[in-house]
Amino acid sequence: MSHHVTQNFFWSELIGNKDSDDLPVLTRYLLLRLAEDVLQPLRNFFGCKIRVTNCLRWPSDYYVLLSRGWNPSLTSDHYAGLAVPTTTPEHKKRFGAYYTQSVGAADIVPECGVEKAWDAMRDVAGCNGAEIMAHKSRIVCGQVIYERSGTSEWLHVSNPPSVVFSNEWVNLTFHRRPWLKSVDGGNTYQEV
Ligand SMILES: [Zn+2]
Repeated sequence: MSHHVTQNFFWSELIGNKDSDDLPVLTRYLLLRLAEDVLQPLRNFFGCKIRVTNCLRWPSDYYVLLSRGWNPSLTSDHYAGLAVPTTTPEHKKRFGAYYTQSVGAADIVPECGVEKAWDAMRDVAGCNGAEIMAHKSRIVCGQVIYERSGTSEWLHVSNPPSVVFSNEWVNLTFHRRPWLKSVDGGNTYQEV
């Protein structure tokens, strides 16, 4: 099953080899919003093809990434609302037995160049979180991260939490820094 979700993006690019019938309806909704409100507008803004290298993660992917030497986050937006078991006492205290507040994210490689795309976004960044004042539309992301690991680089882009949560709830529980840069494979992040 690989139909278009927007003009330039396929459902299979968002869910990989997962079966969409296994996905909770909230997860499907978050991925739809990500494609329609973030990925397609960015594609139009960059004016070049975007390769999606990673989008939906299954909670078990966390352990796979860990074993491969990556630095995955349990609270990553890649889980798109799926319940991820918390393991540390600190996470249990803050979130309970499961973290369920991820809002959907994708790692993308624009064909025009990752650094060029990042610079283009930063040039027209608004002052309200990670918003991009593209000439035709305003693109609202939750977070944009420029990531580099060895010779590969990509952009991490997420839905804004307001896609499903009220402003009050967002202010209470979300403390995401909107623009970040990491050039050491996710070990350290630098605020931009
Ligand atoms: Zn990512």
